[in-house]
Amino acid sequence: MDLHDSPEDAAFRAEARDWLEDNLTGDFAEARGLGRAGLQHEGRDLRMAWERRLGIEGWTCVGWPVEYGGRGAPVSQQVIWNEEYVRADAPARVNVMGEGLLGPTLIAYGTDEQKRRFLNPIRWGTQLWCQGYSEPNAGSDLANVQTKAELDGDQWVITGQKVWTSYAQWSDWCFVVCRTDPDAPRHKGLSYLLVPMDQPGVEVRPIRQMTGTSEFNEVFFDRARTDKDLVVGEVNDGWRVALATLAFERGVGLLGDIVGFRRELDHLLAAAAKNGRTTNKVLRQRLAEVWIRLYILRLNTLRSLTGIDGPVAPPQASISKLFWGTWHRDLGELAMDVLGADALVGDALPYELSDLQRIFLFSRADTIYGGSNEIQRNIIGERVLGLPPEPKVAATSKGAPSS
Ligand SMILES: Cc1cc2nc3c(=O)[nH]c(=O)nc-3n(C[C@H](O)[C@H](O)[C@H](O)COP(=O)(O)OP(=O)(O)OC[C@H]3O[C@@H](n4cnc5c(N)ncnc54)[C@H](O)[C@@H]3O)c2cc1C
Repeated sequence: MDLHDSPEDAAFRAEARDWLEDNLTGDFAEARGLGRAGLQHEGRDLRMAWERRLGIEGWTCVGWPVEYGGRGAPVSQQVIWNEEYVRADAPARVNVMGEGLLGPTLIAYGTDEQKRRFLNPIRWGTQLWCQGYSEPNAGSDLANVQTKAELDGDQWVITGQKVWTSYAQWSDWCFVVCRTDPDAPRHKGLSYLLVPMDQPGVEVRPIRQMTGTSEFNEVFFDRARTDKDLVVGEVNDGWRVALATLAFERGVGLLGDIVGFRRELDHLLAAAAKNGRTTNKVLRQRLAEVWIRLYILRLNTLRSLTGIDGPVAPPQASISKLFWGTWHRDLGELAMDVLGADALVGDALPYELSDLQRIFLFSRADTIYGGSNEIQRNIIGERVLGLPPEPKVAATSKGAPSS
C-alpha cells in the first residue's frame, strides 16, 4: 500500500479540488456544509440544484464505466473525489441510493431498457431513489420480507409496509424487495422491483427521530403498481440482486466520511480545550484514543481498498463497518462527557441542538443501519474466524418456523 498519490492521481486531485472551489461559489456558496448527519432535511432545493450541477459537469457517478456516462475512475480516484468533496465542505449528496446502490446494480443486472431509462436521470441528478428493503419484521433478517407483489396483466400489484426508508419523502422511485412466490423457501420467492413513488397506492409517513428531524419514513404500499418489466434480474431471484446491492454500500465513500469524522474530532478537541477539559487525565486519554483509532481506521480502509476493482469483499466490509460505526458512536459519547453538564442543555428552544449533541444522537444509528454490529460480528466470526455458524431455524416465507 502506497499512501502517496501517483502523478495521475495527484493531477486528478488537483482537478477535483479546483472544480469544487470554482463551483461552490455564488448561490452554491450557501450550500457548503448543508445536510450533515441529523440535518438531512436542510436546503433540499439548493442541494438538488447542486446535484444537477455535479451531473452536468460529470462529477456524479465518477466510478461508473464510461459507456454508462461515468468517468470510469479507478478506486484510488473515487476515493480522492470523496475526500476532496468532504474537504471542500460540499453539501451532503441527495441521491446516494441512486448513484451508489441502484445504478451499479442496474449496470450489473438490469436489462438494456432499464439501463437506458434510469441510468442517465440518476447521473444527471434529476431522479431520486430510495431503498425499500427493511420491514417491521425484516431488518437483520431480510429474507423475512412480507411485502407481496402479484402480477395483474402487464403490471405488478404491491401490498405491504416498509420502514426506515431514508429519503422516501423526496424520492421519485423506490427499489423494493417483494415476495412474489409465497410458497417458495424464504430466499427463493423474492423479486427486486422498481416502483414509482408518485401514485395513489403509495403513502409515505416520515418518522421523527431523536435529532428532531426525519431522515427516514414508513412507506405503505396499498395495491401500488409498477410495470411487469420493471423487475431487476429474474422473477423470484431477487435475493441475489438484493445482496449485490448491499455489496455496493460504503467502500470508497468511507474515506470521504473519515475526512468528515476528522473534522468532528477537531471540533471536539477545540471544545475540550475551550472548556478546560484537557487537564482531565481520563478525558485526555480518551481523546488520544479516538484520535489513534481514527488514524487506524483510515489506514485499514486504505488497505482494504488496495488492489480491488469493485465492491469491498464481505469480511473486510464487515470489519470496516463494525470499526467506523463503533468509532463514531464512541466519539458521540465522549463529546457528551467532554461537555459535561452543558450536554444536557439545548442551544435554543424548541429543539436546537449543538453540533456535538447532534453527532451524539445521530451516531446511535451508525451501529444499526447497513447491518448492525451484532450482524457484522456474526459475519466476522463465521467467515473470517471460521467459528461454528449461528443455529438456523428453518422458516417458511410466511415467517413461521416450518417445523
Ligand atoms: C438511520 C437509518 C437509516 C436506514 N435506512 C434504511 C433504508 O433507506 N432502507 C432500508 O430498507 N432500511 C434502512 N434502515 C434499516 C436498517 O437496515 C435496519 O435497521 C437494520 O438492518 C436492523 O434491522 P432492524 O432495525 O429491524 O433490527 P432487528 O433486525 O430487529 O435487530 C434488533 C436487534 O437484534 C440484533 N440481532 C438481530 N439478529 C441477530 C442475530 N442473528 N444475532 C445477533 N443479534 C441479532 C440486532 O443487532 C439488533 O441489536 C435504516 C436504519 C437506520 C437506523
